[in-house]
Amino acid sequence: MSLEDKLTALPGVGEKSAVKFQQLGLETVEDVLCYYPFRYDDFAARSVLDLEDGEKALISGVVMTPATVQYYGFKRNKLRFSLKQGEVVIAVSFFNQPYLADRVEVGQELAVWGKWDKAKAGVTGMKLVAQLEDELQPIYHVAQGISQASVVKLVKAAFDKGYDKLLGENLPQALMERYRLMDRRQAVRAMHFPKELGEYKQALRRIKFEELFYFQLRLQQLKVANKVASDGVEILYNALAVKEKIASLPFELTEAQGRALDEILADMKSVGHMNRLLQGDVGSGKTVVAALAMYAAYTAGMQSAIMVPTEILAEQHFESLSQLFPDLSIALLTGGMRAAPRRTALAAIESGQVDMIVGTHALIQDGVTYHRLGLVVTDEQHRFGVKQRRLLREKGANPDVLMMTATPIPRTLAITSFGDMDVSIINQLPAGRKPIVTRWVKHEQFPVVLEWLEKELTKGAQVYVISPLIEESEALDLKNAIALEEELAAYFKGKASIALLHGQMKNDEKEAIMQTFKEGETDILVSTTVIEVGVNVPNATVMVIMDADRFGLSQLHQLRGRVGRGQKQSYAILVANPKTDSGKDRMRIMTETTDGFVLAEEDLKMRGSGEIFGTRQSGLPEFQVANIIEDYAILEEARRVAVQIVSEPDWQSRSEWQVLLPYLRKEERLD
Ligand code: ADP
Ligand code: MG
Repeated sequence: MSLEDKLTALPGVGEKSAVKFQQLGLETVEDVLCYYPFRYDDFAARSVLDLEDGEKALISGVVMTPATVQYYGFKRNKLRFSLKQGEVVIAVSFFNQPYLADRVEVGQELAVWGKWDKAKAGVTGMKLVAQLEDELQPIYHVAQGISQASVVKLVKAAFDKGYDKLLGENLPQALMERYRLMDRRQAVRAMHFPKELGEYKQALRRIKFEELFYFQLRLQQLKVANKVASDGVEILYNALAVKEKIASLPFELTEAQGRALDEILADMKSVGHMNRLLQGDVGSGKTVVAALAMYAAYTAGMQSAIMVPTEILAEQHFESLSQLFPDLSIALLTGGMRAAPRRTALAAIESGQVDMIVGTHALIQDGVTYHRLGLVVTDEQHRFGVKQRRLLREKGANPDVLMMTATPIPRTLAITSFGDMDVSIINQLPAGRKPIVTRWVKHEQFPVVLEWLEKELTKGAQVYVISPLIEESEALDLKNAIALEEELAAYFKGKASIALLHGQMKNDEKEAIMQTFKEGETDILVSTTVIEVGVNVPNATVMVIMDADRFGLSQLHQLRGRVGRGQKQSYAILVANPKTDSGKDRMRIMTETTDGFVLAEEDLKMRGSGEIFGTRQSGLPEFQVANIIEDYAILEEARRVAVQIVSEPDWQSRSEWQVLLPYLRKEERLD
């Protein structure tokens, strides 16, 4: 007998059902033992005094009257008896289960699972429960063609054959003691067949810890491996040249920028793999820091590349890098490029003629060959989880990787999806920035907004107006944007120039429109959310967001971050008549804080981890039992211990950690 036995080793499981159970990921007996219920129906008896009308509950009492069965019509009947709970006499009825009558004996204690009817002090029974021990009923995830009962049977079979006795402990004794964890065998059993709620809770705590701890241990191992790797690139940059470049900037770096740059440069100089996250709120000046790091690579005779999510942003970075480094050869590589210029660019990149490359995902596509690629920067690439970063690294000879993000990473994600990374934080805005004033107005007040806009425009302000987001319908998105532009054009006729930017435009069209806005020739830019990420027009000081309640907090924060990028006072106007409480909450929170971290935490709380960044493929790990938001405390503790363990020299040869090694090797699941 072995935990690796196939399911067919269990009585009642043939080849056919074994194949069926594969849908649930169940291949071996061990998989079955560790296939935990995702919830329990609580069969703890309740006092009827606490029950709401219509609530389903287990109601127990002493049988007062014998069961009578009344027949009415074909195969229809009703069984009745009364039950006394405390001072309350409860009328119990069961439909079409006359055979239950045998189990109802006057004077006996009995419980009924059913629906409470408060007015009649009655319960319509669904199940008769004689033994109150079966308090918690496990409920498993099932799939097409697999019933709840069949999973229960399968699990029972594995335990009945005694497979659970083969389960070894996989947590070190020291941790078991420190956190008073239940041993594995007992915990696994209690996950399926808890004797009572308390035991179940302890089992759950242990299993969650185990899950999160192994996850963290793998992450930390990876982190250390990157650091001590000897196959990375040593970027021996010219410190003096970098210093001179910094001195030539039109502004002084903030202290936080300087610190972040130092951390990045130190990583670059080392032969290990840099795997660093550069985090800073919108407008905090990350781009210039990344640009300086790229410049440092150049002084070491190495190429660097920066990858961004949209073509507009690529254009913009291309432009600012060209401005910062007029003497360097910088190439732009995007998906929308024509064949000929693309070929030229690729050849120049491969020959090493190009110093820096800016682009979209095209940068990591086949056919791009770099020449001494030392540093890869990514900007707002949230989907870059642990695995994607590894792929990126494999593109060159282990280039250093710097990930920039203005989307504040909630603490939960910071220690999961990004848990293998070092973090540099720019927690300071350049001097002279004024906090953006945010107002929430209803649609009825839009005329007042227009009047106010007129005044701002005469003072020389430039304005963004974001049209409502219509998810799943680009066509409607566009229609709204056009209607909005027409409305504003009519209102500001002869007073302001207006342009429209939307996602269905060609790239050079978008670019031209951005350019005229940047140059101050356009006063009002009406746009769909294409400008969401990264656009930098310091003179723009007003951001109006129509139907702002359609956006999530993080997105609103990003949009708002397009203003407040210069010395002047900036404003964000949220126009919305939210229909839901959460919509109202979002508007309120936006007016209360400009702190990206606070917003990100709120966002995560409101939307739940499954929806962070909108999709499931966000690189956010999923766990079988643990929930990284609810179980944050365990996650953090697990991380603390994991960090501590892998930082011990030679920890893998220490006897106390031996128990971890086989399980660490077993599965590698990081994203
Ligand atoms: P982020 O990428 O973090 O959103 P950017 O790097 O685009 O921010 O910087 C926003 C604006 O602030 C840019 O116009 C940039 O030139 C300017 N900037 C950056 N650092 C400083 C600084 N230390 N002092 C003044 N302005 C700065
Ligand atoms: Mg930026």
